[in-house]
Amino acid sequence: MSLHPFVRDVPDFPKPGILFKDITPLLASAVAFKEAVEAMAEPVLNLQPTHVLGLESRGFIFGSALAQRLGLGFVPARKPGKLPLATHSEAYGLEYGSDALEIHQDAFGPGDRVLIVDDVMATGGTAAAAQRLVQRTGAQAVALTVFIELTSLPGREKVEGLPVFSVLRY
Ligand code: AMP
Repeated sequence: MSLHPFVRDVPDFPKPGILFKDITPLLASAVAFKEAVEAMAEPVLNLQPTHVLGLESRGFIFGSALAQRLGLGFVPARKPGKLPLATHSEAYGLEYGSDALEIHQDAFGPGDRVLIVDDVMATGGTAAAAQRLVQRTGAQAVALTVFIELTSLPGREKVEGLPVFSVLRY
């Protein structure tokens, strides 16, 4: 089953020049969403991750489904000011704008093996910030899994040393 028909291209959203990949049709299809999660799970089964780190906000959708599929705990990497306790924070530049991600300082520790999950990798800035967050806890990031990879952008170079898996590439 091709999952490409479940992704809509929206030109000039949220800014002129950005071709936005809208995954809401995929999420609305029980069959397609399940197949997407299966395809994201398959290449990471042998990496022995202990946790999934989902990146706000669409990384929460894929990340929590994947965590359930893999039998792992889920940790949210949140936008600034959302987590109630002491956090690590990492700023990053986006394909459109700039932002930061935070995790609780006690989210992971040495010995934990973290699978980073998001919906789309564009410039790789978000994923690289997540990789730095994991490093700051003393845990190890074992891979980055995204549903969509925009291969015209050098995202993989940003997450140096981290295996990257994607289901659809554009
Ligand atoms: P980046 O840090 O440039 O790799 O951007 C990745 C983050 O921005 C992900 O959390 C995506 O949800 C979002 N994003 C960036 N570019 C797009 C795009 N063309 N379509 C949909 N989401 C995007």
